[in-house]
Amino acid sequence: MSASNPTVLVIGGAGYIGSHMVRELIEKNYSVVVLDNFSTGHRQLVTGGQLIEGGLGNVDLLRDIFSKYPIDAVMHFAAFSLVGESVQAPLKYYRNNVAETINLIETMIGHGIKRFIFSSTAAVYGEPEKIPIAENHPLNPTNPYGSTKLTVERMLADCDTAHGLKSISLRYFNAAGAHPSGMIGEMHEPESHLIPLVLRAVLSHVPIKIFGSDYPTPDGTCIRDYVHVCDLAQAHLLALQTLLEGGGSQVFNLGNSVGFSVRQVIELARQVTGRAIEAVEHDRRPGDPAVLVADSSKARRILGWSPVYENLEAIIESAWRWHRSQH
Ligand code: UDP
Repeated sequence: MSASNPTVLVIGGAGYIGSHMVRELIEKNYSVVVLDNFSTGHRQLVTGGQLIEGGLGNVDLLRDIFSKYPIDAVMHFAAFSLVGESVQAPLKYYRNNVAETINLIETMIGHGIKRFIFSSTAAVYGEPEKIPIAENHPLNPTNPYGSTKLTVERMLADCDTAHGLKSISLRYFNAAGAHPSGMIGEMHEPESHLIPLVLRAVLSHVPIKIFGSDYPTPDGTCIRDYVHVCDLAQAHLLALQTLLEGGGSQVFNLGNSVGFSVRQVIELARQVTGRAIEAVEHDRRPGDPAVLVADSSKARRILGWSPVYENLEAIIESAWRWHRSQH
């Protein structure tokens, strides 16, 4: 490791979760290099660090970065993440999420960099057999997006055996919320996630669609485990410390371990915004499991992770501040 503050390369640092990570790293005095091709990220979300424009398809650029900067660890947030699109265009997902990650890992190993933090997803589990979902739940992704993430997780395990690459894969449940400063937040285009869509519905006076109201849940709508984006960033910091201290490869779930239904989310958004929100019942969205709730006790126990935003109201409030400022 370099003598000064550790240097972290954040791939996809202009995206939703990556930009919150960059901010946390800078607050904690890490040196940060951001690589982003702005395919889905936004320049204005990068609030510090050395920003390099480019993608993982450019191996020469990767070599230059690893030669020029004393990178101690890599965090990889850059991936396509739309489940529906992944079903329509699987190869786009395998190319971006798997093949380009091979370029990255190969170049890292070539430069002797052996600490890697990977953005994985609850989608690696597929249809849950048991709730809450712990890390030892069977892995049966039901869409190409989940398959690409699981493929990378497996590749990382093999690269530990072969090359001593130490990785921590963090399986996110439903990332939500925005930085308390109101400076950065979620900016997906097209937007497909529930909380931003509910808040946009408030601002644009359009109804929000409830995708399915006949699920086997108390109010008939899907239940999800929403976790604040800054709490996700905190978990990455703890994972980074673990690797910098010589820790080994692991996987962790990141969720609050509390589920909220679509109707509950809409009701809380009504309370937070103080505005009426019209909701209309719609057909189910293909591929949505009824309930996804994390058992994240492993991250709490081993990483010492303790999410600050444990109630959904606070998560929605932070997102509301951001969306209002963008409107
Ligand atoms: N959802 C909904 N209306 C929307 C967007 C999402 O009812 O306009 C539902 C979706 O079917 C799922 C939940 O909200 O049950 C969370 O969806 P999101 O896309 O935010 O996250 P996912 O769980 O799919 O990762």
